[in-house]
Amino acid sequence: MSEVTAHRASILHCLRDPSDDKDPLAVGSVEYFEDGLLVVADGYVDRLGPAEALLKELPSNVKVVEHGDKLIIPGLIDCHVHYPQIDIIASYGERLLDWLEKYAYPAERKFADPEHAKEVAKFFVQELLRNGTTTACVFATVHPQSVDAIFEAASKYGMRLIAGKVLMDKNCPEDLRDTPETGYEQSRQLIEKWHGRDRLSYAVTPRFAITSSEEQLRQAGRLLKEYPDVYLHTHLAENEEEVAQVARQFPWSCSYLDVYEHFGLVREGSVFAHCIHMHDDDRKLMARKGAAMVFCPSSNLFLGSGLFDLAAARRCSVRVGAGSDVGGGTTLSMLLTLGDTYKVLQLNKQSLSPFGGLYLGTLGAARALYLDNCIGNFAERKEADFLVLEASGTAISRRRWDNAATIADRLFCQFVLGDNRISGGSFVSGEPALTLA
Ligand SMILES: [Zn+2]
Repeated sequence: MSEVTAHRASILHCLRDPSDDKDPLAVGSVEYFEDGLLVVADGYVDRLGPAEALLKELPSNVKVVEHGDKLIIPGLIDCHVHYPQIDIIASYGERLLDWLEKYAYPAERKFADPEHAKEVAKFFVQELLRNGTTTACVFATVHPQSVDAIFEAASKYGMRLIAGKVLMDKNCPEDLRDTPETGYEQSRQLIEKWHGRDRLSYAVTPRFAITSSEEQLRQAGRLLKEYPDVYLHTHLAENEEEVAQVARQFPWSCSYLDVYEHFGLVREGSVFAHCIHMHDDDRKLMARKGAAMVFCPSSNLFLGSGLFDLAAARRCSVRVGAGSDVGGGTTLSMLLTLGDTYKVLQLNKQSLSPFGGLYLGTLGAARALYLDNCIGNFAERKEADFLVLEASGTAISRRRWDNAATIADRLFCQFVLGDNRISGGSFVSGEPALTLA
């Protein structure tokens, strides 16, 4: 006998990319029910529709959860974040390469201790869920035990999570280095242990081209050949000094992306954070290969890295998701991150509609991660990950929410004023997430 629960609230989700639609609700790229019902059976979406009509069809013993005037949207997806850096979020005064030396590496060194890794992983997963993030693509550290810790924590909460051990064997502190051989072997063991278990997936994770020898990048390519359905997760063209250093370090390469391409790392399921300082030829190559970009606006602003060109990515048909990139990013809230995408695009004389933002944080991100067959919206049989939004956090957000004229307006003010205090709760596979562990 299946377990069925229905959630009644205003419900909003994307059916496809609404960015080019003048009126997404009219053409059906976005669907909205003012008084809607989301029916969940055994953790999957069973049905979605207007509450009054659906309630008549449901058996009388189905539990109906009344959420009042709250808004249900699909669970948010953070396509790029470093869990070991949660303790150095908001660290002052550096750009990327110095920031790594001064803050990131000392924080990551502590993950040699498995107890520390466990404590941080638990806190991190709870914070993701508190902020409405139900799927994340996560950097661990060079230590295999850091990967065990984050997968164990995600698994306890039934969360969908992609993670991997950082590969780095040069240009970083001695005590944070692996070797091409140990990096390969540890990754292989972690893939065998975790990939495909529960809702967990593995990502081969070279930090970036600068911190890997050519042999290590070759070994990363070997892992992808041996395990074709794992992800590749790394950084690309975040900062101008970084791009210049890559050109010096790999003098034979035509571009930064060409380094990764040379070693077979650009393919479906490859996730490249940032992608700011690059040309259309590389964007087109990414599109052809099915690789994805991650737009990390708060990090790009905070570290002064540059402005992501969403129009160019769209022109070249590249898959794009959004990422918090904590600790370079300044919030784990994907609502606020989507607000920051809007601000970065404003500086770049581009724009992003409220529904375009919703797409970037849900179905578009799911597509970037090749997970749109199982998450990203409320299509039938997808995993029932969702977020109940309410504007009860601050006086100003409540007031603004009450003054919103349309659903687009109501959504957009959450991107700008939102934080975890306005989340009425995250649900994973239909269950209230924070009650699960
Ligand atoms: Zn990053």
